[in-house]
Amino acid sequence: MPETKKTLRKKIEATGLMNKYMADYFYELDAASKSRDKKIAWCTSVGPAELLHSFGFLVYYPENHGAMLGATRMATDLIPYANAIGYSPDICSYLTSDIGSYLTNNTPLTKAYGIESVPKPDVLVFNTNQCRDVQDWMAWYANEFKAPLIGINTPRTPTDVNDVIINSVAEQIEGLTGKLEEISGNKFDPKKLSAVMALSRECTELWKEVLDTAAAKPSPISFFDCTIHMGPAVVLRGTQQAVDYYKILLAELKERVANNIGAVDDEKYRIYWEGMPVWGRLRQHSELFAGLNACVLASTYCNSWIFSDFDENDHFRSMAKAYTELFIVRSDSAKEHYIKKMIKTFAIDGIVYHDAKTCPNNSNCRYGMPQRLEKRTGVPSITINGDLNDMRMVSDEQTKTNIEAFIEQIEENR
Ligand code: SF4
Repeated sequence: MPETKKTLRKKIEATGLMNKYMADYFYELDAASKSRDKKIAWCTSVGPAELLHSFGFLVYYPENHGAMLGATRMATDLIPYANAIGYSPDICSYLTSDIGSYLTNNTPLTKAYGIESVPKPDVLVFNTNQCRDVQDWMAWYANEFKAPLIGINTPRTPTDVNDVIINSVAEQIEGLTGKLEEISGNKFDPKKLSAVMALSRECTELWKEVLDTAAAKPSPISFFDCTIHMGPAVVLRGTQQAVDYYKILLAELKERVANNIGAVDDEKYRIYWEGMPVWGRLRQHSELFAGLNACVLASTYCNSWIFSDFDENDHFRSMAKAYTELFIVRSDSAKEHYIKKMIKTFAIDGIVYHDAKTCPNNSNCRYGMPQRLEKRTGVPSITINGDLNDMRMVSDEQTKTNIEAFIEQIEENR
């Protein structure tokens, strides 16, 4: 059995700047929510945020709040409040912990930024490209705040994202503009949308370059670092700050690569993470793998915010394409093709599938994928049971034993 050593996390210097940008983002939303001088749109994390920015909305993402509830380990105690009003413990624990947070007036924004509550929406906008839960989640708040709910219903599980699908989604995105004009009081301005899309594309391409530095040996960054540093790509894409931030982070990582500095000391095993992070166990999992000289260095999850297809000359169709070609939207065969490429690019020794109890949409181990991929690539895998936010679903001892045995298996197979 490999010996698990005690490890220290290596600090990324750019973190301070990211924290400042994230704080400024929440302060601006809070101020607007109180003064009502700027309109606020709530949006799903891979929803049409660029369109909303072009109308001048400040954009708030409930899923980001859900992840904060998980990372601060507040979520588990809040979930039962949503269960009590009829939202099952088996559905998305972002949704249930977030509604529980609202019902008890208990948000991690208070401890982090001194902000008392989430900002009030003028409109809520969803895209079901990732799951149906986001629509139900937004619908609950739309009723609570008596605010309009609009959205896009994306066909799920296509292998090929063909013209029929792209045209249908593009028409739906364009169809939102009338309502958004009415709510914002601003006319649709194609030039503004072009500018936001260009910034968003630049931000997410820089984010991809950040993620791609993990192809170096040793990898300068881990999946656990990336779950934190993806914050600006999620909530600030379409702004100059996000672009500026990723340039600085990228320079730091390139310097690490040049100096042969790995995120994990003496990296021996290179691991791919498939599925949601276990937000309440980021530190433990980071230390568990690092203590085994294993670097979890690539993931599907962190790669979900890359929108290279945005094209200012074809606004709606290119947005439809970028938002529908995402991994989570696709069929298993398209997903397997993607993971095979990732295994090669990042020289992966093993895959960890996280079977998240309350997110079937981001748990890709339930229909034989690990077995099929292992057969085709020869790369071993393991499934750990857990959840993104509900820590009652996580067994720390079992995870530790399984991961240690998995690393031993990789070593024996060498
Ligand atoms: S994809 Fe999963 S975690 Fe994300 S909102 Fe949907 S059910 Fe929740």
